[in-house]
Amino acid sequence: MKIKFIGTGSGLTSLKRYHSSFIVFAGNYNLLVDAGDGISRALLANYVPFKDINGILLSHLHPDHFSGLGALLVQMKLTNRENTLDIFVNQKVMGFVKKFVRQSYIFIEKMGFEINYKTFRDGKKTNVDKEFSFYSKQNSHLDKYKQYVTAGRLRFSCNSFLFEGNAKSFFYTGDIGTAKDLYLFEDYKFNSMITEISHVPADDIMDAFIQQKAKILVLTHISDENQDVIAGIYRRPEAIGKHNIVTAVDGDVIEIL
Ligand SMILES: [Zn+2]
Ligand SMILES: [Zn+2]
Repeated sequence: MKIKFIGTGSGLTSLKRYHSSFIVFAGNYNLLVDAGDGISRALLANYVPFKDINGILLSHLHPDHFSGLGALLVQMKLTNRENTLDIFVNQKVMGFVKKFVRQSYIFIEKMGFEINYKTFRDGKKTNVDKEFSFYSKQNSHLDKYKQYVTAGRLRFSCNSFLFEGNAKSFFYTGDIGTAKDLYLFEDYKFNSMITEISHVPADDIMDAFIQQKAKILVLTHISDENQDVIAGIYRRPEAIGKHNIVTAVDGDVIEIL
């Protein structure tokens, strides 16, 4: 199992990094994790043909993770895609995503290729392909917004994931809210931990990495303003003289141990 970073930026649009996204290559299946603003261009810039993506998984609906979905589907149609595409969405927001696509005048029945919407549920295992699956858990990234919804109903869903493929596994934090979210999969086995660095302090990230005995820590979701977080991580004695911490850049390919 390998991953390739398509974007390693934060929610702040940058000329140096596309918004946070990566592809998991597991066996014959290529899963794009998140499809934020500019994803189609980010894939082109990273030499990934649209047809090579077998599935898209959405962690949450913030624009830097979701708002490129419609545009990407249009690119797939315009480049005459024929192979089936899976779209994995949390059951809490699946209804909205389907509506968003249709209200963007993208009619899946006339795409020329099949689109399979696949619902995943909190705390459950989802099979992507033979020997490739993920567990998803709800994290606290969106909790701070709940105070603004005083009338009516708005669905909140933001997931962290544990991916498993060919006897390897890795923990991907997704966008998180507090340091507690760094331990959502502490009862699971993983050697690689991929974490966002925009919403948690450096020491909390390092503590979680060490306590959970992961072997490789990969940092992503990085803005220029996050340089102090990166510096804080490398300043820790556990990081000195080791090659176990990677600050990802767009296009990086990482082999999962
Ligand atoms: Zn984000
Ligand atoms: Zn977010």
